[in-house]
Amino acid sequence: MAFDYDLFVIGGGSGGVRAARVAASETGAKVALAEESRYGGTCVIRGCVPKKMMVFASSYPAAMEEAQAYGWDVTTGPLDWPKFQQKMAGELDRLEGVYRSILSKAGVETFDQRATIADPHTVKLADGTTKTAKHILIATGGRPTRPDLPNAHLGIVSDDIFHLETLPKKILIVGGGYIACEFACILNGLGVDVTIFHRGAQILRGFDDEARGLVADVMRSKGITIHTGASILEMAPAEGHEANILTGSDASMGADAEMQADLADETSPKGAAIGPIWAKAMNGQEGVFDMVFFATGRRPNTDDMGLEEAGVALKRNGAISVDDYSQTGVPSIYAIGDVTGRVELTPVAIREGMKFVETVFKGNPTPVDHELIPSAVFTQPELGTIGMTEQEAIERDAGPVEIYATSFRPMKQAFADGTDRVLMKLVVDKESRTVLGCHIVAPDAGEMIQLAGIAVKMGATKEQFDATCAVHPTMAEELVTMRHPVRTA
Ligand code: FAD
Repeated sequence: MAFDYDLFVIGGGSGGVRAARVAASETGAKVALAEESRYGGTCVIRGCVPKKMMVFASSYPAAMEEAQAYGWDVTTGPLDWPKFQQKMAGELDRLEGVYRSILSKAGVETFDQRATIADPHTVKLADGTTKTAKHILIATGGRPTRPDLPNAHLGIVSDDIFHLETLPKKILIVGGGYIACEFACILNGLGVDVTIFHRGAQILRGFDDEARGLVADVMRSKGITIHTGASILEMAPAEGHEANILTGSDASMGADAEMQADLADETSPKGAAIGPIWAKAMNGQEGVFDMVFFATGRRPNTDDMGLEEAGVALKRNGAISVDDYSQTGVPSIYAIGDVTGRVELTPVAIREGMKFVETVFKGNPTPVDHELIPSAVFTQPELGTIGMTEQEAIERDAGPVEIYATSFRPMKQAFADGTDRVLMKLVVDKESRTVLGCHIVAPDAGEMIQLAGIAVKMGATKEQFDATCAVHPTMAEELVTMRHPVRTA
């Protein structure tokens, strides 16, 4: 049977664009891609990239304070938020243009519209046309969700934060994951009074306990209020005040509140309220805030996609079930990236896209390697991590574990009379000496873990770390100079 395309990709984010480009440019496949919103997807338009720009913007007041301590005669004036925002929007436009041109140069035909699955070899576009393809790749990513709570529509989600007309004075962030913590630090740096309501006993679940404890301590020391054991219970416009509707870039102006109440699970900014909003947590904590920001999780974009009708199985959370080669139960349909709910990180989506092309278009079946993925939380200070946490290493029940750790005030901060501490930690298998995990809390820990990650991924032993000469004076030199374990477990 002759198909219109060898490959039809649905979703022009990190994974979809990479797979489409490589399949077209390196294998000569005839490829098409549909994107319903903006090219670049979550990472470029409403995730990693604009977030990192906000991290940079927010770090200047602390840097100025430190500069003063070093003797510089500098003062920090107010941030021109509209100016910054305009510049950020311009940079995102530029990057979106780069993504478009990458695709067109590779010969990928693009459709700027929504696509769904009509059958295992047919894609239906929003304009009603259908296209056939030998293979279909679903790379539709995910979207932020709001909790199922009356008045949840009054809160914003991460998509909205990049479009605020004005910064709130006082914000409540609901959630304790990496997105919640990163934005808590960003907004704190931008001068916003930040409170977190988090239902767990500690922020950053899944990360090493010592590392998350230190990040929480530093966040608190910078003035962020963190309430743990504090699930949000109720929220409402604060007594005596009307909530104004703030508009996001693609917001529907003045959407009525009752209709909005039905949209608790909607992703795109339909109009987010700016305070005052009263909110109360399960543990009795309550307060009035200018804005409530839900960082309470994400959901894969699989709704109304025709997936189950075509025979594609979904997991309970809506993610697409795939095997090690990203193939669904329908042989012609594959899925990569956040929509599969495996590891929700840009480089992972990209790798899954590359392995898909290797498997399907280069005749070299290659499973995706999800072991030992380094990652960073861009809090201030950052948390860089790879491999097992201390707890995971102990729980794996495969012999004793040695913990090498040191926490200290780095030279740069100590000179400026700063109190922030950093943490360097290695989790080591006592028998084989393999470094099972590395956890760093420090300025630029993201940069450090990228490099330490190579050694850990290669299976380096503690002795091989130690055989590497220190780079002095640095913070990271401690990773190769910790002689004695602080404990064995
Ligand atoms: P996406 O990038 O989400 O792309 C999916 C695309 O599909 C979207 O453009 C969407 O519009 C489109 N689409 C959806 N449905 C359809 C349809 N039916 N038809 C046509 N198009 C459709 N990861 C990191 O590695 N580092 C970070 O620092 C980091 N920070 C983040 C910060 C935030 C606030 C968020 C939300 C995420 C962050 N991530 C980070 C995660 C990262 O952005 C995602 O893992 C990555 O973008 C996933 O890529 P993807 O290709 O699977 O999906």
